[in-house]
Amino acid sequence: MNTNRPVPLLDVPRGNAPLREEFLEALASVIDSGRFLFGPDVKKLEEECARWSNCRFGVGCASGSDALLLSLMASGLRAGDEVICPSFTFFATASAVTRLGGIPVFVDIDPETFNMDPKVLDAAITEKTKAVIPVHLFGQCADMDAIMQVCDARGLIVIEDACQSIGASMNGRPASSWGHLASISFYPTKNLGGMGDGGMIVTNDEELEDQLRLLAGHGMRPRYYHSVVGINSRLDSMQAAVLNVKINHLDDAIAGRQKNARLYHKLFAKSGLTHEISLPKAKLGDGHVWNQFTIRVHNGLRDQLKAFLAEQNIGSEIYYPVPLHMQECFQSLGYQPDDLPETLKASEEVLSLPIFPELEAEEVRIVVDGVKRFFAMSQRRAA
Ligand SMILES: *Cc1c(COP(=O)(O)O)cnc(C)c1O
Repeated sequence: MNTNRPVPLLDVPRGNAPLREEFLEALASVIDSGRFLFGPDVKKLEEECARWSNCRFGVGCASGSDALLLSLMASGLRAGDEVICPSFTFFATASAVTRLGGIPVFVDIDPETFNMDPKVLDAAITEKTKAVIPVHLFGQCADMDAIMQVCDARGLIVIEDACQSIGASMNGRPASSWGHLASISFYPTKNLGGMGDGGMIVTNDEELEDQLRLLAGHGMRPRYYHSVVGINSRLDSMQAAVLNVKINHLDDAIAGRQKNARLYHKLFAKSGLTHEISLPKAKLGDGHVWNQFTIRVHNGLRDQLKAFLAEQNIGSEIYYPVPLHMQECFQSLGYQPDDLPETLKASEEVLSLPIFPELEAEEVRIVVDGVKRFFAMSQRRAA
């Protein structure tokens, strides 16, 4: 029998409801201004994102995926160039490379953080390597000090995929402040989520900023004169107005996620489920912003646990069930599943639990109780 209150994986309206009046006011002023592109709201958000990232410049664009694409275009990626990235990430990290005729070279992850393992980076570099895309997955920075050491020594361009991790930091240094370029996504479920698609590139390099603006606007300068083939990728003023409201509350949203992560750790530690599951670690200091709270489920029980939680009306999701090196569209790259053993293992074990900022302590308890009930039941069955 299922008696607990339902706990959703995500509840976007719950987060937005308290800001409704602020949103309406901000949107009304865009409507009245008639400046739907390139307005003051976009400029303000660019400055705010740059500030959060300890960067000089922000350049708005249409999505996090476009932020990666434009970053690679501005880096001068050419057909046949290799770009090293993790396989355990969202598709857009690698598809941007392929769309430009580049070759994604997938490397394995550190099993404790799910992020690119800096130790395997050096061996993946060839004379064709142009750039590296470390991903700050689930809200935690990749080990950027170690990654930059390798990349600087080999003269490689570094593009941080910070799509899940605005506001994250490592030893006090913010995500997006290490690489030549970094991409941020405003997809509604990201830590700074808009009301539709949107993205941002941040950089400290004035020439790259200029190149990004050129490329995002059809390579057109002056009007109707095209020196390069760009794309059309803009952040519109409506999204920027909404995001300017939300970025003022980003500190609180991050604090809410961190509070929920602490409660999960406390309750799971008391549950005694040390052999059944492993908890996510904030390995590099306290700068984890918990876009996801991702546990590992051992002994091949992940999918059964997920189904059990769903029966109890508890949301959970698998990020990501198929690593990129095993995707159908990348088969021509010639990888075998166990070429990246930690990536393969993670894809078989991970399960993300509800962690959104407005999630209540009571709901965290319901989730932990649900997990405990599942293992009590499966142990009784095994006995
Ligand atoms: C969401 C995401 C993207 C793409 O962002 P969109 O705004 O959805 O295009 C890229 N990389 C990672 C790691 C993401 O999580």
